[in-house]
Amino acid sequence: MAKIFCVANQKGGVGKTTTTVNLAAGLAKVGQRVLMIDLDPQGNATMGSGVDKRKLELTVYDVLLESASVAEARVHSEKCGYDVLGANRELTGAEIELVPLERREKRLKQALLEVDKDYDFVLIDCPPSLSMLTLNGLCCANGVIVPMQCEYFALEGLTDLVNTIKQVHANLNKDLQIIGLLRVMFDPRITLQQQVSEQLKDHFGSKVFNTMIPRNVRLAEAPSYGLPGVIFDPSSKGAQAFIVFAHEMVERIKGM
Ligand code: ADP
Ligand code: MG
Repeated sequence: MAKIFCVANQKGGVGKTTTTVNLAAGLAKVGQRVLMIDLDPQGNATMGSGVDKRKLELTVYDVLLESASVAEARVHSEKCGYDVLGANRELTGAEIELVPLERREKRLKQALLEVDKDYDFVLIDCPPSLSMLTLNGLCCANGVIVPMQCEYFALEGLTDLVNTIKQVHANLNKDLQIIGLLRVMFDPRITLQQQVSEQLKDHFGSKVFNTMIPRNVRLAEAPSYGLPGVIFDPSSKGAQAFIVFAHEMVERIKGM
């Protein structure tokens, strides 16, 4: 059975998409079968996986509105080694179109049942909001990976996400848990980042992943080549950290 993880944080620009595509590529490199789902209408995870969002005939939008199955809408990214259920601007409409529909928050969950046996991991890149799209991701997930920068307001920003996850856990998906907080764009030379990192560990204990993703320019350059950093420059510090993180995830799911 596939383990399904949302990469979520309602803040924009915290590293969700970078985490999703690089973890997907890292897991594929260590032999895992991976489906990456882009739930953000910006389509950055789609483009960053070498799939042109403008040329897609079917996307996650069609899956949510039940006009296509996952098997029909997914594409394989040869360069990245994983499957992609892509997104483009059309997905913006789904937010409103889903409102009057039945089982609207469980559409993705239902659709994924059919491909459950095809994958070890399904990774979902969520938009920077706690919207109906994010809710669809949270309803089908076994866990949430929360990327965060170790900055002053980091902990404060987590409260809304933690509350939403608690509510989804109580009402819609009793499997849901925060599997871990991932420290990203980390710069150990900055004292404040070290302090916030320590606070995170005090507060969340073993929920903080051991792996830290450093700030690394190669990770930031990779999307303009339509690649995750792990594929674009495997020897870079950022890529290496994501490979270590992929191994950590493989270990973490053993107990799940
Ligand atoms: P989100 O999906 O949460 O909006 P992104 O993954 O798109 O965030 O990251 C925001 C910006 O930060 C992007 O320009 C990305 O390339 C850059 N970035 C993300 N992680 C790193 C990192 N570890 N080192 C350097 N730049 C990074
Ligand atoms: Mg993003």
